[in-house]
Amino acid sequence: MGRAGFVAGNWKMHGSLARNQELLEAVVSGTRSLQNVSCAVCVPYPYIVQAQSVLEGSHVAWGGQNVSQYHHGAYTGEVSADMLTDLGCRYVIVGHSERRILFGEENRVVAEKFRAAQECSITPILCVGETLAQRESGEAEQVIATQLDVVIDLAGIETLRHSVIAYEPVWAIGTGKTATPQQAQDVHEFIRSRIAVHNSKIAGDIQILYGGSVKADNARELFAMPDIDGGLIGGASLVAAEFISICLAAQN
Ligand code: PEP
Repeated sequence: MGRAGFVAGNWKMHGSLARNQELLEAVVSGTRSLQNVSCAVCVPYPYIVQAQSVLEGSHVAWGGQNVSQYHHGAYTGEVSADMLTDLGCRYVIVGHSERRILFGEENRVVAEKFRAAQECSITPILCVGETLAQRESGEAEQVIATQLDVVIDLAGIETLRHSVIAYEPVWAIGTGKTATPQQAQDVHEFIRSRIAVHNSKIAGDIQILYGGSVKADNARELFAMPDIDGGLIGGASLVAAEFISICLAAQN
């Protein structure tokens, strides 16, 4: 409904200088004719400079997969939003389920990271989503509502004007199991309604991506749903032809 499409690749901890070069160049040339869809790749920190040098001046943006909640200081091993800004990142993923589950990031920390990105004018891609156990016990909406509410309470509803949400059911990530278009649509609609309680304009404008085993052959039917504006793509973003097809499927 008037929202442009957006497809972001999440490379996770994959890549090498040689492989990235080929992939980035292929993505730039394969998405050149895209209309009304933006695309981005979120790459491992050491490769951000490489992404910048290949993508600068192209229509493909780049970003990080995580960010510190702090701006600077004695935080060994952390990378701040200020540093991502320095390297031209337009986006950063926050609250990916792998960060939440494997690295113990709680809602409060995710919200602080979201706010840190905003403070540096980087658009956070906020991931929300339920585990299989939570879905099966009927808690999915409550889990997602809490994930959103903590961010809204800490950062303020206005910050959602410059952010993207990714609904990523944990049971669909990297498993080859995709939510059906209707399952995903139901949650996207719920997310929009939750935001609309605070501000209906923001709820109508915000891009909500679906993530979880999106491939070239299932992207089109997912993106055809009214509240699905594109995708956050893991595995398939490492294969140029797959990623390009998914970007093309987001054209409306
Ligand atoms: C992800 O990591 O955000 C993701 C959606 O992964 P995959 O597409 O591989 O399921």
